[in-house]
Amino acid sequence: MHVEEFRVRPSAGCARLGCVGHPGPARHSRVVHIARHKLNAATRGVFFSSVLSVLWLDCGLSRTRANSKVGTNRGLGPTANSLSFRASSTRENLVDYDIVVVGAGPAGLSFAKSLTGAGLRMALIEKQSLGSLANPDYDGRDIALTHLSVKVLKEFGVWDRLESDEKFPILEARVLDGNSPYTLEFDRKQDPVDALGYLVSNHAIRRTLFTEVENLPDVELVTDTSVEAVATSIAAATVKLSDGRTLSSKLLVSADSRFSDTRRMVGIAAEMHDFGRVCIVCRMRHDEPHDGIAYECFHYGRTLAVLPLDSHESSIVVTAPMSQRDELMAMSGEQFSSDIQDRFGSRYGQMQLSTERYAYPLVGVHAKRFCTTRCALIGDAAVGMHPVTAHGYNLGLSGADLLAREIRSAVRDGKDIGSLDVLCRYERKHLRNTRPIYHGTNEIVKFFTDDRLPAKLARKVALRIANNFPPIKRVIRNKLTERSNRSWLRTVFPGP
Ligand SMILES: Cc1cc2nc3c(=O)[nH]c(=O)nc-3n(C[C@H](O)[C@H](O)[C@H](O)COP(=O)(O)OP(=O)(O)OC[C@H]3O[C@@H](n4cnc5c(N)ncnc54)[C@H](O)[C@@H]3O)c2cc1C
Repeated sequence: MHVEEFRVRPSAGCARLGCVGHPGPARHSRVVHIARHKLNAATRGVFFSSVLSVLWLDCGLSRTRANSKVGTNRGLGPTANSLSFRASSTRENLVDYDIVVVGAGPAGLSFAKSLTGAGLRMALIEKQSLGSLANPDYDGRDIALTHLSVKVLKEFGVWDRLESDEKFPILEARVLDGNSPYTLEFDRKQDPVDALGYLVSNHAIRRTLFTEVENLPDVELVTDTSVEAVATSIAAATVKLSDGRTLSSKLLVSADSRFSDTRRMVGIAAEMHDFGRVCIVCRMRHDEPHDGIAYECFHYGRTLAVLPLDSHESSIVVTAPMSQRDELMAMSGEQFSSDIQDRFGSRYGQMQLSTERYAYPLVGVHAKRFCTTRCALIGDAAVGMHPVTAHGYNLGLSGADLLAREIRSAVRDGKDIGSLDVLCRYERKHLRNTRPIYHGTNEIVKFFTDDRLPAKLARKVALRIANNFPPIKRVIRNKLTERSNRSWLRTVFPGP
């Protein structure tokens, strides 16, 4: 007997073709279509894979329990992390995937999209509702995307899904220091590019990525559900969900923000730097057009970025000491608008708040490692950047892409996708990229927010050197825009 289409509703307690239905709450966001399976083959598969997965999981979990006192110790045999939950939940509750991703933010969604079609079954766990993933609220963040990120988003099909009034080119960038009118300028004069980069609102990135991912046949979205506990062993990674179910996989990918709980639960330490400052973001309309120019004004005490959107609208990013947060948020729209207009020297004439204001505490995070037994970190869970160099999501995207490539190549070579060998290769490559950017950004912040006289003088000199020495300018520009993969040496001395 044949069936033309075999439908599995994972919420019915069954995720793998092999696991037969154990009715559960209908939480999953969609039906997985597994087309044109012959029933005979399916029935055989159901039986054998049920037996195998139960044996395999039992084996892995009991080993995990047996080693629960060992602690996290990458590469030295089985480890157990956060065994606050009993991994021996009922067998019918255990679900088997190749990869479980925690967090359907921009990084988790990008990773799922990068890896689709590799023949792997993925579960994407997100605590927010399906509705808020499909239609995320505006959150004040306008993300400056580098050329590399735009290239990846084009490959995803996301770039074309964005409306034309949702992506804005940055044609020039200007940096000012203190009250001085002296400007460090980045333009396209020696550079035949359309733009230095592009601005796209975070909620538009999330929405379009979600649209690309929601119908992927190899990705199951589990929404309104959070991961509450995690255990990893040489055999498998296991997560306990808030709905009581337990999922196991060959690999757990943590993409659950810079304050990642899963990172903590698998025992990966992170360096956190609290800048003691707040970032307030919003949009403002203005009388004069911005001509595609992005301004970064390192005023004393506060910094102000004015980034070009629609011709008469800009994205505003204010950073100030945390102690000023309440005052800035409590200002009326008129007070706030005229304060920004004054600080910006009325360059664009009258300015007026056109959205709500959103406040984000500024905390930089860099995980000490990007992987451990059967677990890898991506996105802000790996590196959460200070926004001044606009690298957070750009790094998240390149990291997700890098991990997906390593996994694809492991699949091609018949290797275990969750082995440390595979994960460490990702870690090595990504760390090489993130460490200098993370520490460099923190140093820039320190340098430009130090209001002592020697620092003020040093800044004046630094801006003038950068402005008058084109090779240095090229290195800075290429690093910020990711326009070129050339080494800094090749950038400084481009040759013929
Ligand atoms: C003001 C500001 C400006 C910025 N500007 C730029 C810029 O110009 N350029 C740039 O590249 N980057 C920028 N960034 C950084 C960028 O926004 C982040 O790097 C990016 O959003 C991180 O994506 P993520 O998916 O790693 O994490 P998040 O966006 O934090 O998503 C994490 C997801 O995981 C879910 N989650 C968390 N815990 C659990 C759990 N236990 N179970 C299930 N789900 C869970 C959350 O609900 C969320 O959906 C900026 C950031 C800020 C704050």
